[in-house]
Parts: sequence; C-alpha cells; structure tokens
Amino acid sequence: MEKPKFYQLTKNERLATLVEQGILNQTDAEFLAAAQPLSDELAGNMIENQIGQYQIPLGVVQDLLVNQTLYQVPFAIEEPSVVAAANNAAKIGRINGGFVTESSTRKMTGEVVLVDLGDLKVAQDWVSCNNDLLFEVAQAAHPSIMKHGGGLRAITVAIIDQRFLKLTLQIDTQEAMGANIVNTICEAIAHAVQQQLGGTILLSVLTNAAFEAVVSASVTINPATLATSTLSGEVIATKIIAATDFAKVDVARAATHNKGIMNGIDAVIMATGNDWRAIEAGAHSYAARDGAYQPLTSWQWTAQRQLQGRIELPLPVGMVGGSIGILPTVQINQRLLNVQSARELAGIIAAIGLAQNLAALKALVSDGIQKGHMALQAKSLAIAAGANDRELTQLLPLLLTAPHLNTAIATALLAQLRA
Ligand code: NDP
Repeated sequence: MEKPKFYQLTKNERLATLVEQGILNQTDAEFLAAAQPLSDELAGNMIENQIGQYQIPLGVVQDLLVNQTLYQVPFAIEEPSVVAAANNAAKIGRINGGFVTESSTRKMTGEVVLVDLGDLKVAQDWVSCNNDLLFEVAQAAHPSIMKHGGGLRAITVAIIDQRFLKLTLQIDTQEAMGANIVNTICEAIAHAVQQQLGGTILLSVLTNAAFEAVVSASVTINPATLATSTLSGEVIATKIIAATDFAKVDVARAATHNKGIMNGIDAVIMATGNDWRAIEAGAHSYAARDGAYQPLTSWQWTAQRQLQGRIELPLPVGMVGGSIGILPTVQINQRLLNVQSARELAGIIAAIGLAQNLAALKALVSDGIQKGHMALQAKSLAIAAGANDRELTQLLPLLLTAPHLNTAIATALLAQLRA
C-alpha cells in the first residue's frame, strides 16, 4: 500500500513524523499534541480585562526552499485552503530552484513632530546642527539597544505644511521589531528638542511605514511546471502576468491580490509572535507609496521565456521582544522554522508571500478559485452544522454533489444521516 501523504495523517502522526525527521523535538511535539492553553496567570497579565482565550489552528508548510535552505514554516490561520495552497506553491518553487531573498537595510523609523515653534527655519537649523547632542540623548534613553549593537543611526529634519517640524529617526533595533525601543528614543528626543526650542510636542512615535526594512523575494519558474490537466503552463504563466498587470490598473483587484499575499504572510507573522497589524499597515502603505495602490508582486517573462515573480514589502519582524519570549508556542515555532535571525525570518516571510500569490493566481487563472475551495468550504459547513469526525466522512460526498453549498443544506443532510 502507498505510504499516506503528510496531509492524510492524523495530527499525532504528523507530529511523530516531524520528530522522526528531526524537525521537532519530543518535548515540543508533546506540548503541541496536548494543545495546552496559556496559564490564566500569563493570559491575564498579557492584556487587560482578559475573559478567555481564542483558538485558531496551527499548520505547517513543508519544505519551502529559500536561499537554498529548506524550511518548515508554521502557519497560524483560520482560513481553509491557505496552507494547502502554500504547500502547492512551495512545491513549484522547489522544483524550480527555490526562492531567493534580498534585504539591504533593516531599520525602524520614528517620527517626532513639534508645533507652535515660531520660526520653523531656525528650529530646523538647530536640529541639523545639533545631531551629536540628540544622538547622546538617544543613547541615554535606551542604553541596552546599544549593547545589542543597535541604536539611533540617522536624523533628518523637515518643515511640513509650514506648520509642523518633523524629525525622522532611523533606528537599528537589531533582533527586535523595535516599536517600544523606537518610541522610547523618539519621546526622549522630542523632550530634548522642546527643552531647547520651546513649542509643543504633537507626537513622537514609530511609523509603521517601515520603508527602511524592505525585503524582497523572487522566483524563476519554468512554465511547464505550472501545467494543469486542461491548460498548458505557457497559458497559465501568460495569464498570471496579465492578471498582475490588471491589478496595477484596477485598485479593486489590487486589494484582493494583496489580501491573498497577506494570507500567508499574516499566518507566519501570527505563528512567530509578531505584530500582524504593524505588518499589514506597513504592507498597504508600501503598496500605496507612489500615490496609487499597487500589487505587492510583479510577474514577467525573462529573456529565456521563464516566468519570474518578485515581491517587495516592509517586514519589520522580530525574534525577540513583545510577546515573542512569553508565548510557548512561538518558541516552538521558532525551533520548527530553525531560523536564527530576524533578517532570515523576514526573508522566509517574503518568500511565503510570493508563494501564496503564485498559488492564488494560478488557481484564479486556471480552474477558478472556487474549485479548490469547494471541498474545504463543504468541510467548514459540515463542521458548523455539527458533524463529528465519523459523520464528516459520510456527509462530505453528499454535500459536494448537492446542488448548492450552504448551511441549510448541510444541516438537512446531516439530519437525514442521523435519522
Ligand atoms: P520590547 O519592548 O520587548 O523590546 C525588545 C527588547 O528585547 C529590547 O529592549 C532588549 O531588551 C531585548 N533584546 C534582547 N536581545 C536583543 C537583540 N539581540 N536585539 C534587540 N533587542 C534585544 O519590544 P519591541 O521594542 O520590539 O516592540 C515590539 C512590541 O511593541 C510588540 O508587542 C508590538 O505589538 C508593540 N507595539 C507596536 C506599535 C506599532 O506597531 N505601532 C506601537 C507600540 C507597541 P534588554 O536589552 O533589556 O533585554
């Protein structure tokens, strides 16, 4: 008999396989198998007014090849089909030599804005001429980030709208996402500037438009590897390029194009204890950086008639800080990923975004998005109707041949089965 595929195993068999493969250790596998909630003490101390815990499934995308290293990527996500689609695209990527990532800078940006300053030009000149003093203020405000090799790297100053004095700070936050680090430094600098120049501090805070932490990933695909039973790879690749070109001129499509990308990105962001609101804000502001909202990926032919895809977006993720060190499953996920640095993690996440986009576009321009979703949608409906594991096996084939997929039909078919 043929060995069952990973997705056909039970959860415990999957965990055992990962242990056998040396990807998970026994203790981590036992922790995941037990599905323990957070202690009330921990949950109650993490947020205010805590009244419970919210569960979503954790899955794994297998063997994503990035910069010639194979990664097992944890996905925390509630939406059916996202993990399966990412696995499919990871396989296509692997056959084609994998994803290649690049990142030049990795700095967080802070904004300090003052108003009521009188002569704004004089204020601007003072900031420009007193950078040394402001660097000392930053160092004193957060000495520990200096010890980690980071700290303030640059200050620029501008007059905005003849009303606001804006200081832009570039801060190296090393292995942390750095929101708190940046905010601490911004506030200290705001007070130092105000002490010298008077005026009113309007705000001092990081910007989630983390354009100094942009990461890119690319993949080059032999179109033949995209072929389906009904369409040639050449046709699919041509349509992937056209669909992306359409997203460039149609914001309604660009939003959905980017949502599909964020399906994968957010799942890894969540699994690794990072701040998905920050990543979402950064991604969409980057998509609109030139004034028109654009797709975050591009697809084109190479001179050798290969399909080349590229993604580019800010990914200010951390390996430490925030709730990363607190949540036990995040620690397990870091070990599962076997990732050593925030920069490496950001590269994997960019590659996942591109893979997810490839899977979505391929489905969209070939069979349509619903075909692949039907079985999973039927499963969600059957579960919502109250079917247990045993009933699911009987109910799913009935649902998939029913004239419509909806709650009423799922409930009626389940009732018939139980009668
Ligand atoms: P922390 O405040 O936890 O700071 C990270 C800390 O990690 C550092 O201060 C440092 O402390 C420690 N650390 C240990 N090793 C390293 C290393 N190698 N490099 C860097 N730091 C190291 O978290 P962040 O500043 O990263 O802030 C992230 C949190 O802020 C998230 O929870 C986010 O949700 C939240 N946030 C987000 C905002 C936004 O996006 N707009 C706004 C405000 C908050 P030490 O040296 O003392 O050990």
